[in-house]
Amino acid sequence: MPALKKPNLVSVTTINDDGSRYFLHPADVTGRWNIARRVVGVLLIAVYVFLPWIPINGNPAVFLDVENRMFHLFGLTLVPQDLWVMFFAISGLGFVLFFATSLLGRVWCGWACPYTVFLDHVYRRVERWIEGDAPARRALEKAPWTVGKIGKRLLKHFLYVVIAAAIAHVFLSYFVSLERLYDFMQAGPMEHATAFGIVLFLTLVLWFCFGYFREQFCIIMCPYGRLQSALTDDDTINVGYDETRGEPRGTKGKVEGDCIDCHRCVQVCPTGIDIRNGLQLECIGCTACIDACDDIMTKVDRPKGLIRYDSFNGFAGKARRYLRPRVYAYSALAGLGMTALILVASNKARPFTATISRSGGAGFYSDANSVRNIYKVRVFNKRNQTATVTIRLGKDTPPGYELSGEGQSFSLPALSEMSRTCVVFAPVDSYIGTSDIVIEVHADPGDVILQKTARFLGPNPQSLKHPNP
Ligand code: SF4
Ligand code: SF4
Repeated sequence: MPALKKPNLVSVTTINDDGSRYFLHPADVTGRWNIARRVVGVLLIAVYVFLPWIPINGNPAVFLDVENRMFHLFGLTLVPQDLWVMFFAISGLGFVLFFATSLLGRVWCGWACPYTVFLDHVYRRVERWIEGDAPARRALEKAPWTVGKIGKRLLKHFLYVVIAAAIAHVFLSYFVSLERLYDFMQAGPMEHATAFGIVLFLTLVLWFCFGYFREQFCIIMCPYGRLQSALTDDDTINVGYDETRGEPRGTKGKVEGDCIDCHRCVQVCPTGIDIRNGLQLECIGCTACIDACDDIMTKVDRPKGLIRYDSFNGFAGKARRYLRPRVYAYSALAGLGMTALILVASNKARPFTATISRSGGAGFYSDANSVRNIYKVRVFNKRNQTATVTIRLGKDTPPGYELSGEGQSFSLPALSEMSRTCVVFAPVDSYIGTSDIVIEVHADPGDVILQKTARFLGPNPQSLKHPNP
């Protein structure tokens, strides 16, 4: 079996001294953390695949309809004027990530990052199924190009491309909906060349990343990994090695430390590091080394947890502090962002909005028969279906007052806005002077009623009933 490269703190394990790539073949690992991560990974993949299938208010749960310039997010429809809402969404989610990182280190990378999820729970499984365990894969890599090796590699990369194409198609469905994606797939590639080009490009990128680039993306390219040192401190919970307990390492019975120097934690590491050298930038918190070492500890009859989730202070035997100023600060900022998002979203989630303003010109018009005020009523239909809108006076309007104008009942197309000029008449016999009136906007379907109070202006009633001779 080819010798494994020994990690160190001076160079990146996956890059040889001559700059060439050292391809890793992480060993299989089982254990409670591995099972938990797999469950989470499968659930996240299911969410990704099935979200476009779940209809809410007539649209997919998440539908970024770029062509019609509308975003449909869990029943909320955002038009270009609403894009400022995304500021709250992005900043709120960003601070949630900061909060999680300050508390639990790279929990996002190890458990929920789409790159890790697809690589660990899909692509590595396919590779394991076709090429065998880590020693078999290493041997295959060194073996000459026989028919068997070519066949295995072809089958593996064929499946890689098929899976990459499936991920790319699902991705596209978030932007065009499943129905249109299906139409695109029925037609020839050149009929929808842009969509075809996007899917082809994505498929090739995913194939390259998951088939070849792999952990290099996390080590070299991911900006989030670079932020870690700014977001964490000695109380952040990370995957780490208990040096106090493990050292000096060596053969059981010959040294005092619990680490038997079996290198099992190194063999399972998908980024090729030795966690015993301390927390390193390459560690994505995948927990494989915890399960691997727990298994070894069980076999040598020592307590589990030589490698475990703990803070630097915890490993040093000091008191652990979970709640601390930076956690409070990030949670407060995350809470602010998310609260603002919920408030804005709940406001945006209202199916109709209406505003009433006084029309330009004189405040009122009067003659011997009536006093008239003119208003501008603007109604915005946020639904994806045409609504019938009716404007009328509410029951708290003084009796005898009437509404007329350029049509109090009209059809309002989906996601559109309309203005109507409304004239409110107060017959001289009913007129009570300047007062409040209530204008109601009724919208169907849903029988939504919006009530707005407006000021009705006019002269002194006595001057109308007893005009100067
Ligand atoms: S798996 Fe545990 S015992 Fe083996 S080398 Fe790693 S830390 Fe030491
Ligand atoms: S050191 Fe452990 S947790 Fe970190 S990437 Fe390697 S196996 Fe995963």
